[in-house]
Amino acid sequence: MRVLVVGGGIAGSATALGLHKAGLDVTVLEAHPDTAEDIGAFLTLGSNGMRALAELDATDAVTAVGFPLTSLRLLDDQGTEVAHTPLGEADDPVLRYRCLRRGALNAALQAEAVRRGVPLRHGVRLVSVAQGPDGVTARCADGTTVTADLLVGADGLHSTVRRLVLPGVRPVYAGQRVYYGYTAAAPGTAPAPGPDGAITMVRGSATAFGYAVSPAGETYWFARAGGEPLPTGASAEQSAEPSAGPPADPRERLLALLRADATPAAALVGAAGAVMVTNATELPLGASWHAGRVLLVGDAAHAASPATGQGASMALEDAVVLAKALRDLREPAAAYAAYERHRRPRAEHNITVSGGLSRGTRAPSGPAPVVARPAGPDERLLAQLAWDTPLSAVPPEPR
Ligand SMILES: Cc1cc2nc3c(=O)[nH]c(=O)nc-3n(C[C@H](O)[C@H](O)[C@H](O)COP(=O)(O)OP(=O)(O)OC[C@H]3O[C@@H](n4cnc5c(N)ncnc54)[C@H](O)[C@@H]3O)c2cc1C
Repeated sequence: MRVLVVGGGIAGSATALGLHKAGLDVTVLEAHPDTAEDIGAFLTLGSNGMRALAELDATDAVTAVGFPLTSLRLLDDQGTEVAHTPLGEADDPVLRYRCLRRGALNAALQAEAVRRGVPLRHGVRLVSVAQGPDGVTARCADGTTVTADLLVGADGLHSTVRRLVLPGVRPVYAGQRVYYGYTAAAPGTAPAPGPDGAITMVRGSATAFGYAVSPAGETYWFARAGGEPLPTGASAEQSAEPSAGPPADPRERLLALLRADATPAAALVGAAGAVMVTNATELPLGASWHAGRVLLVGDAAHAASPATGQGASMALEDAVVLAKALRDLREPAAAYAAYERHRRPRAEHNITVSGGLSRGTRAPSGPAPVVARPAGPDERLLAQLAWDTPLSAVPPEPR
């Protein structure tokens, strides 16, 4: 069975690893001309995402980049520590949370797929899809075509595959802007970071703020704040250098929200190299994930607001479950149905919880909720992800 994966991001590269492990003939098309290491945001992989990576035999590839997180510290709006607890499966070096730049994770997964012999073509953008009784043909912007038995759309939030085969399903604003950036360890500019391996969440009066310090001393931080969405354009991302921004630039807007509190947040943002901002968006519940020979995975299928920090981990879970479904069932319609039966309740639960956290923020007053971290693994998830356990042996998620 030939499978064409469109998009070599987290979902697409991981899906390629899974399908290759399942013995399928897989090719990846990626629009970005190189490994996209410049993609700015960072993310945390939860223990569930790390478990999915382990099932794909990709732990080493990913732990070569980023750094581990083993505890969660909570500060109130006066900077007082109110809780400090272990994070996920902190005692297990394979499964503990990890903080990475999104581009570095993409690059590591892509390199691992290529190392295993998966053809991955950069700079190739899909523009149309044609389905027939014998296969599905992708036409690319460079004029080339690729025909396969199945096409997996792993092309992210603004998925072209989704727009082509499932028109009408569009992301909506989830009620918050998300700011993020990096602050170098310059003496006198950044506050004392806190214990090694901790992610610190700050329950600010108008923002949910979080930060973690890399072993090199660089602070990775984000903030979520309610308000109107950024104007839509080709990209909602903006950037401002420290001294260049007008008063309405993202840094000043964010600092105005943070200065009311006595926490480390304002000093970190003030000293950051650049401040990025984007809209938190999500896909509606109940949207279809497949049409004929075409199936969606990752953000293309079930993008959620980033509040739970689970989007990448969900994409990795998708990869394992889809690979197991196609390995065990081979017949596409049956495999797609099994994949969706096992994935939809969990992915949509994440959209619901994450969207609730985002929309529940009341700015400028009232405590902002911080990220809800899922508790330890449940038995159903363990069985869904365990490579040697057939999906038929796993009870479906309750709807
Ligand atoms: C600010 C922010 C913070 C976040 N924080 C976290 C976090 O802490 N933890 C977490 O788990 N998640 C987080 N997320 C979510 C996470 O980044 C996404 O869920 C994840 O990147 C989804 O992976 P994906 O592969 O589905 O999509 P993407 O990473 O968007 O990858 C899609 C790929 O498809 C390619 N592509 C697009 N169109 C085409 C085309 N027509 N043809 C070929 N290729 C194409 C793109 O170039 C890209 O490489 C965050 C998101 C944001 C915006």
